[in-house]
Amino acid sequence: MTVFIPKKVYLTIIAAAVRFANQRIPKDDWLEVSGVFIGKNDGEDVIITAVYPIMHQELDKDAVIDQYKWSNEDYEALSIIDDEAFSRNEFTVGWWHTHPGFKVMMSHIDIRTTLSYQQNNPLAISLVFNPVRLIRQLEMPDKKGDPEIQLENDPGFKIFRLDDVNQGIKASYHDAEYKIEGYDSIEQLIKLSQKFIIDITNFFPKDNIFDTYEKFVKQKINQLNALLIGTEEYLMTLVRKGESSRVPEVLENQNRDIRKYVAETFIKIENIKEFMDYLEYKERETVIPQVNLILSEWDDTISKLNDKLKEIAKKF
Ligand SMILES: [Zn+2]
Repeated sequence: MTVFIPKKVYLTIIAAAVRFANQRIPKDDWLEVSGVFIGKNDGEDVIITAVYPIMHQELDKDAVIDQYKWSNEDYEALSIIDDEAFSRNEFTVGWWHTHPGFKVMMSHIDIRTTLSYQQNNPLAISLVFNPVRLIRQLEMPDKKGDPEIQLENDPGFKIFRLDDVNQGIKASYHDAEYKIEGYDSIEQLIKLSQKFIIDITNFFPKDNIFDTYEKFVKQKINQLNALLIGTEEYLMTLVRKGESSRVPEVLENQNRDIRKYVAETFIKIENIKEFMDYLEYKERETVIPQVNLILSEWDDTISKLNDKLKEIAKKF
């Protein structure tokens, strides 16, 4: 039996995990996140079609691992997701959570959670992801002081399934085979994922998401305005120095630089839009419209760019 994981599903798990456990956050404040998988079974295989981040742990320095509670809101989200899936002849095929900075395995709490999934669906799976394992290609030791284990081409997670549900919380478990789809090779997967983690660390914060994007858009607009003003000043200097013949050439070069800047910013804006797919389910309704509003300021600016460039050209 094999678990099939689409690229987008894998990226969602990485993004949701890294958002709450990355180099910009002190390690003591790293939080676990969890969610569910939607999909279907094909014989013994599990075909994952979608993944949903549901919640993150609250910061509690005294908490032991996996001590998090789903709120009523989270259970509501789960039932909406399940209903939507049902309308497509799909269902919840398992759950996932993160062990930020510690070993990929199942705790007693994880076994209990997995048991509840497997009691409903014997083929249900449990995925545990540690972003540090992916970044450093190391497995953390069982206990402090033991050596770290070097890995090679490891996606940072394992998928588990209980051996015998009838054993209850005493059930042992095994690794399940999986395949991540959408990459040319495992080497490419590792390389792209490590780069993706940097983007998420810098641009998909757990807090102050609006401030971050507002600042970004404002800075990009200011920079664009500075480029336009700079162009005009440059051209004025040329005229003053009696070098008007160079105006068309300079104007063309400046135009090209501005277009390049706009294209680069467009990619960043598209990234932010993509990151909205990695929000927790309960955040979507409030966060996405607000972020779209913030990003639309850039679109408004760009829609006036051609006129502005024409205006400058007309002056010379
Ligand atoms: Zn766990």
